[in-house]
Amino acid sequence: MKKVVKFGGSSLADAAQFRKVGDIIRADASRVYVVPSAPGKRFSGDTKVTDLLYRCYDLAKGGKDFSAPFEEIQGRYREIIEGLGLSFSLGEEFRTIEKSLKEDPDRDYTASRGEYLNGRVMAAYLGFDFIDPAEAIFFNEEGHLNEYKTGKVLGKMLEEHDHAVIPGFYGCGKDGRVKTFSRGGSDITGSIVAGACHAGVYENWTDVSGFLVADPRIIRDPVAITTITYKELRELSYMGAGVLHEDAIFPVRKEGIPINIRNTNAPEDPGTWIVESTAQKSGYTITGIAGKKDFCAVLISKDQMNSEIGFGRKVLQAFEENGISFEHMPSGIDTMTIVVHESEFIDKEQRVVSAIHRLAEPDSIEIEADLALIAVVGRGMKSQRGTAGRIFAALAHAHVNVRMIDQGSSELNIIIGVENRDFETAIRAIYAIFVETKL
Ligand code: ASP
Repeated sequence: MKKVVKFGGSSLADAAQFRKVGDIIRADASRVYVVPSAPGKRFSGDTKVTDLLYRCYDLAKGGKDFSAPFEEIQGRYREIIEGLGLSFSLGEEFRTIEKSLKEDPDRDYTASRGEYLNGRVMAAYLGFDFIDPAEAIFFNEEGHLNEYKTGKVLGKMLEEHDHAVIPGFYGCGKDGRVKTFSRGGSDITGSIVAGACHAGVYENWTDVSGFLVADPRIIRDPVAITTITYKELRELSYMGAGVLHEDAIFPVRKEGIPINIRNTNAPEDPGTWIVESTAQKSGYTITGIAGKKDFCAVLISKDQMNSEIGFGRKVLQAFEENGISFEHMPSGIDTMTIVVHESEFIDKEQRVVSAIHRLAEPDSIEIEADLALIAVVGRGMKSQRGTAGRIFAALAHAHVNVRMIDQGSSELNIIIGVENRDFETAIRAIYAIFVETKL
């Protein structure tokens, strides 16, 4: 069985971290394909190499001197190479990058060099071959991954290399130039590589021991999730729980390859398994809690709304005309509520209100701001009686007023709307009732 191992920026931030990564790879002979990110932050307040590269590009594009951040980047790699005791130089590479910045600055190409250079260092350090994704991962005209071509070309290249380093974050655009994924995109590269070589596992190594049941900024030392399904993960990531890039799931999901999130700084921890489906029960009724603040609810009322065909469509058209996507839509008999992101809505609110009046002729429209949404997610909820009851009892005890409830038809999640100021209290109350008291 082959394993693809992807290491995030903090796992490769300096020579000491590189050594840990080397030990992890050498500890298991099936870890044959390695996908590195660019060097990340060594301490809080530090700057990621990718951000320094974007800074170089912005300066170069504006015709300004970019030598300070450029020198800083060279220093970061020098420290890694010397710290690892490698007799290897990136001098020629840096001259090429500098030339491109001076003559024809290209945003994606510049940003991609963080991963490219780290890939070169990693290949030299491990004695693995180097595969440049600019020759193996392809985008189509719309800027999306060209799955067919990538699968074919990359699959063939991997067959020819028993051990290889494939830098994350970029590939080849339709115009033949380097193109990057969105930020955090090395996760996607890892998944693509795993799909292309039909790996047994895609290990994604980061600086936490897997997905946590709740945000550690709100809950002190939350427990880690042992196993989570793709669907649960999607619900939680959508609500802001971020360890893995959202688009990283699709390439492995198609091949039925599980993802194992692991901690480079605690390799003995089992981490979190992300799987298609599982008979494994999670330790608790819920799998995770996530949430976001700053939503607005637009409450539309009209007598006899229930019997008016097309009413919902007309209301939604008002949002569509103004380029606003809605997040949730709980409804009553004569009311419907459209929940939107405050930041997307606030400047256009009066235009939306008049469009709803024009299109749907409601009796009244009310807008409520400062709403936070919390998703309580768990595959176990549907077979457990009283889950919702427990959530609401816990919130009532914590004096949190529930403003909205929306249970998806999959019964995989319950979405609760509370006031922004009750957000943290609500999450703590839900965590306590399910995890701390393990009800
Ligand atoms: N280095 C890129 C970023 O900082 C991509 C990645 O790390 O996944 O976004």
